[in-house]
Amino acid sequence: MGNILAVSGLTKQYPNFALRDITMNLPGGTIMGVVGENGAGKTTLMKLILGILNPDSGEIELFGNNRAMKSANVREQLGFVFDECRFHSCLTAKDVGNIMKGLYTTWDSEYFKKLCTLFFLLDGKKIKDYSKGMKMKLSIAAALAHHPKLLMLDEPTSGLDPVARDELLEIFQDFVSDEEHSIFFSSHITSDLEKIADYVAFLKNGKLCFSMEKEALRDTFTLLQCSENTAHMDRLKNITAGFRQKKFGCELLLKASPSEIHRILMATGDASAVAESASLEDIMLLYQGGQL
Ligand code: ATP
Repeated sequence: MGNILAVSGLTKQYPNFALRDITMNLPGGTIMGVVGENGAGKTTLMKLILGILNPDSGEIELFGNNRAMKSANVREQLGFVFDECRFHSCLTAKDVGNIMKGLYTTWDSEYFKKLCTLFFLLDGKKIKDYSKGMKMKLSIAAALAHHPKLLMLDEPTSGLDPVARDELLEIFQDFVSDEEHSIFFSSHITSDLEKIADYVAFLKNGKLCFSMEKEALRDTFTLLQCSENTAHMDRLKNITAGFRQKKFGCELLLKASPSEIHRILMATGDASAVAESASLEDIMLLYQGGQL
């Protein structure tokens, strides 16, 4: 499976923030979920990949082409959605379709109409009268209707109710059902990423802490609930990636598999300790930094 996107050593410096030395790959037919707290650099990274911002250093290769953004053909193969609707508020969904038809040679009016019908957007309302969810659905329909190969989505499910989120997640999964298509998807809703992401990238303060297969996370991080004595054991020090004091005892995020932690715990005799694979949410809440 070839890479649809390959980023290496990407750096962007702002006066009070730097995205530092980002290296990651996105294979065809997969979904990469990007997580990180507010201000971690997710939108900046997406804008760099889309060519909206210029990096200070580093390489971006799209569809095997490292001069990608110079080519109109490559731009047609990219669909993107940011958390704000980019269309003028006086337009209707039909108007948006007519405008986009002139911008993309690959625009598929029938598909756009089908998506708008599915999302109940063809009632003649103007965007200014749309709800937040409707605006997001229109943006997604417009991003999909020119049949891009790579979809870049910045928090596409925020503001959507659970039914609409599920509908969209299904559309995203269909989109990557062959190896020609991939999605790069940032979200704070970790349950959405748990559902559909194949890879997870975690940004913190502009640094990529890790980018790996979601399934591999289970054996990479363990959440341990234990007594203070156990938490301060020498054998856990080197693998502790995060710590939280709880009302009763402590919670540790450990860089090791649950089975390794079980082996260590056997020696402690702390019968109250519970070790299990950390969820994405546990990792986001507890991870203190450093690179895996
Ligand atoms: P959120 O989850 O809140 O959307 P994010 O992870 O997408 O956050 P970014 O929008 O990439 O974060 O912002 C990362 C940092 O870059 C922030 O500290 C922000 O203030 C800074 N930043 C973004 N754009 C600019 C700019 N044009 N000039 C200076 N600093 C900027």
